[in-house]
Amino acid sequence: MIENSKRIVFKFGTNILRNEDGEISLSHLYSFIEDISRLYKQDKEILIVTSGAVGLGAKKLKIDTSTSTTLKQAAASVGQPLLMSIWQDGFEKYGITTAQILLTEEDFANRKKYLSLRLTLSKLLENKVIPIINQNDAVSPSELEHACFSDNDKLSSIVASKLDADLLVMVSDVDGLYDKNPKEHKDAKLIKQVEKVTSKIEALATGASSGGRGGMITKLTAAKVVSSSGLYAKIVNGKIPNIIKKVFDNEIGTTFLPSNNLSHKKRWIAYATNIMGSIKVNEGAKSAIKDNQKSLLSIGITDVQGKFKKGEIISILDENNKEFARGISSYNSDDIEKIKGHHSDKISEILGYKFDDDVVIKDNLVLI
Ligand code: GLU
Repeated sequence: MIENSKRIVFKFGTNILRNEDGEISLSHLYSFIEDISRLYKQDKEILIVTSGAVGLGAKKLKIDTSTSTTLKQAAASVGQPLLMSIWQDGFEKYGITTAQILLTEEDFANRKKYLSLRLTLSKLLENKVIPIINQNDAVSPSELEHACFSDNDKLSSIVASKLDADLLVMVSDVDGLYDKNPKEHKDAKLIKQVEKVTSKIEALATGASSGGRGGMITKLTAAKVVSSSGLYAKIVNGKIPNIIKKVFDNEIGTTFLPSNNLSHKKRWIAYATNIMGSIKVNEGAKSAIKDNQKSLLSIGITDVQGKFKKGEIISILDENNKEFARGISSYNSDDIEKIKGHHSDKISEILGYKFDDDVVIKDNLVLI
């Protein structure tokens, strides 16, 4: 149930953190901080993804950043410490320590960086620190274009799904997802609950919001990533007073239900970014895995690609080279090359040892 969520990621968009004149909205921010502190004291683990660096920096420098990526980067470098100091001062008043983490998409794609980030974040949470996360806008031009984290909705969904959160709350300036565009249709109705982000649901989102880089489309994409990773997601309107206190209320905002219940381990396998190799299997093995939830046996393997060690994540491909599953290999690629096409009984004879009857055991397999 959503109220049992222990690890919660809150994402705050630029528009909800500033007033119409571009100044930071301290009243909003402090009310978020006060209500988050309350959750924190109920023993929840909180991570915050915050936008606003570019906007604050542009205001300070009195520049218009709309046409230049480099100016946006310069503005972000000026605005980020200002933004951070507001969060930090606010939480300090409640005796809560914060940490600043600036990320690029590469930090998740590179396994060493990702593991190190996971460890750092779990140490911070263990030490009761609230990590305050933003994109590292200054280091890469692509951060502000479309190649990497195009927006903080995407960043927050990756943070939530890769760092084993239970719930992502996107605090925006809209009430949630509507069945029609509410700006054009007076009778548009708020959708309170989404069981699965299907293409029909995706078609309901239109346009980007002004100010930040996201809009309903990026929020829905984020909700899709998060819910298909087995987490709850929620879009709420930060202009509703004390919205943070109401995040578990199903009548408020749009709640996206987890659309699968993969364990943390299976989630890690399914969303791995560092696949070391692949195994191709015949139709019989594919149907045993896909239709009958069986392990992968050596007999059904027809080819091995890439170099990988025992314990690494591999793709499992069908006869048309289409990936249909991922798993943790019980053997390295050289061993699999030797035992492919042979019955499990022959493994000891061929290799001189046997770790397992299965090349990928079913607990280490996830269908894609
Ligand atoms: N990282 C940007 C900032 O702090 C925000 C990106 C977005 O609006 O999604 O200004």
